Amino acid sequence: MSTTPTPYDDAKAQLKRAQEILGFSDDDYALLATPRREVTVAVPVQRDDGTMTVLQGYRIQHNWSRGPGKGGVRYAENVDMEEVRALAMLMTWKAALLNLPYGGAKGGIAFNPAEYSQAEIERITRRYVHELLPVIGPEVDIPAPDMGTDAQTMAWFMDTYSQAVGYTEPGIVTGKPVSLGGSLGRAEATSLGVYITTRAALEHLGIHEEGATVAVQGFGKVGRGAARFMDDAGMKVVAVSDVFGAVYNADGIDTKALAGHVDETGKVVDFAGAQAMDPAELLLLDVDAVVPAAVEAVLTEKNASDVKARVVVEGANGPTTGAGDAILNEKGVLVVPDILANSGGVLVSYYEWVQSRDNFFWDLERVQESQESAMLAVWGDVVKFADEHGVNLREAAVSMAVERVLDAHKMRGLFP
Ligand code: NAD
Repeated sequence: MSTTPTPYDDAKAQLKRAQEILGFSDDDYALLATPRREVTVAVPVQRDDGTMTVLQGYRIQHNWSRGPGKGGVRYAENVDMEEVRALAMLMTWKAALLNLPYGGAKGGIAFNPAEYSQAEIERITRRYVHELLPVIGPEVDIPAPDMGTDAQTMAWFMDTYSQAVGYTEPGIVTGKPVSLGGSLGRAEATSLGVYITTRAALEHLGIHEEGATVAVQGFGKVGRGAARFMDDAGMKVVAVSDVFGAVYNADGIDTKALAGHVDETGKVVDFAGAQAMDPAELLLLDVDAVVPAAVEAVLTEKNASDVKARVVVEGANGPTTGAGDAILNEKGVLVVPDILANSGGVLVSYYEWVQSRDNFFWDLERVQESQESAMLAVWGDVVKFADEHGVNLREAAVSMAVERVLDAHKMRGLFP
């Protein structure tokens, strides 16, 4: 039997630490640690060749005390209950930290979208939505994109839900295409937030963004945009990776040209403006900030002691294991936790949901200015809590969020 902690074990350990800091009871811990609703669904799909494959889908609503569930849908081969549980719990804390009127949820289907055609992915998505109809809704649980899903997936999601209820319901998902009621600024919101928090963390250490060096792991929806915002702001993005490999340029990569190369070839490797590097070395580069923005558990007890950056900004959810985190803290590396660093996505999802329900749409300036001022305010609150309680930024962010959720529980009372 493996003794390696699962992502859910790590998430519960963060909650335990918040319990120590805030001093609430074991009963309250049990209430907060236990997901409110867990659903598994079979997703049978007819393949293009006429055969059938049955996939496993999940949706977990961790907590509803502050509002409907909110969280992404992930399409990846290794999606399982433990991972979805952990991610749903993180969503509860993320929404509460941002003071949004949501609880936390997460979902996914265990399959590799690269091995399926677009038509098959559409059928998979529509069947998954159909199976979830009894437990989702704009007042119940509002999905969004995550790894392996995008605005197109959300459009199919919204259409299937709308067909079932008999009218168009844009409030059922966020991260929709702008043409279907999506928000301007949503597609790049997570990346913008990663840039804003990276800049704030560097400034906190007295490092000016101009010329600061950064390495970004992952060049998908989060990593690609983050690298672009950083490059535009004058930071030097010296290394970038994806699932196929990594590239390096000590003078800074032209991220716009790299994005063009990835659009053409699907990979960062073989980009003419940089040299190949060992992807395992990317997070260990001697740079000002490293930004893991791909998958979880990439900073662990095996490599954390070799991190040379002053700052780690968690663009991905759960990129640092509990053991890795302890080592980074010991070394004095400033870790900007996922629930703060990548919260721009859920924040602008909230703006999108408000716009969908109001049928009144904001311009990009309003979206991005609102996002920046909200995230900087939360950054300031987290730094203050950390200073006052002598804890690190993750402990501060999780504790602040947990306190709000617990308060909501207490005020609502326990239904017999
Ligand atoms: P995505 O599918 O768009 O991109 C993932 C990227 O990571 C791809 O470039 C892929 O090649 C790369 N990758 C995969 N495995 C890798 C590996 N082992 N090493 C290096 N690169 C690897 O996914 P995304 O939406 O960018 O999500 C990335 C992370 O950010 C996830 O943890 C997700 O939960 C989190 N996140 C996403 C959003 C959002 O709005 N999309 C919001 C908050 C958090």
